[in-house]
Amino acid sequence: MALHADSDVVLLLGAPGAGKGTQAQYLADLLGVPSVASGDLLRQHRRLGTPLGRAAQEYMDRGDLVPDDLVVEMIMDRLSHRDAERGVLLDGFPRTVAQAEALDRSLAKRGARVRSAVYLDVPTEVLVERLAGRWSCPSCNATFHSLFNPSSTGDRCDRCGTQLQQRPDDRREVVANRVQVYLRDTVPVVSYYEARGCLRRVNGHREIGEVRDALASAVRAPIAATA
Ligand code: AMP
Repeated sequence: MALHADSDVVLLLGAPGAGKGTQAQYLADLLGVPSVASGDLLRQHRRLGTPLGRAAQEYMDRGDLVPDDLVVEMIMDRLSHRDAERGVLLDGFPRTVAQAEALDRSLAKRGARVRSAVYLDVPTEVLVERLAGRWSCPSCNATFHSLFNPSSTGDRCDRCGTQLQQRPDDRREVVANRVQVYLRDTVPVVSYYEARGCLRRVNGHREIGEVRDALASAVRAPIAATA
């Protein structure tokens, strides 16, 4: 296992549509660690047709969570890669209290721990609108929004030029379920880290640049501070 006591393990928590994907790479670069998004890893398994990808498919298409044991194993495997030695920014994991407990146990075995959990706070009522306008690049995973963050050409990725796609689980009916699942299963994860004293709340209902600056101060600030 590459992680150790001085590794910088930071979590990016928030509802689907809160803007985690938009901010994750910036934050990871700032911290000097890789960004690991559980949703991206699962989509990659699906593209490759692995047993995990096949098992995850039906849950993802409905907007339900993939079972904890599968996701925990996938993330722990990713954390054992050499590039995670200095730490990692986890985006979209943990999403249940059981996942948070499994992560804590696994890190503790290596003398490591979650340094901070940054919660990107966005009112529930704006999530559906945000998700339904979201377009992403199937090639490099960059995300855009038809209203808030359009690509310069309208339909192609600014980073690699690939034709943008709407994720099947960003359809309105699936989005509504994803938000319900978030409220039921993931909101308790926010309380979990709050109780451990490492939660930092950032108001995510602002212009992208402002959210970015607030996230940067939140990860640099002492634990008690908020942005
Ligand atoms: P995301 O890209 O983070 O919105 O995730 C897309 C989908 O992948 C979710 O709706 C879930 O079906 C699945 N997924 C991603 N992360 C997790 C997780 N930590 N636990 C369970 N399912 C997950």
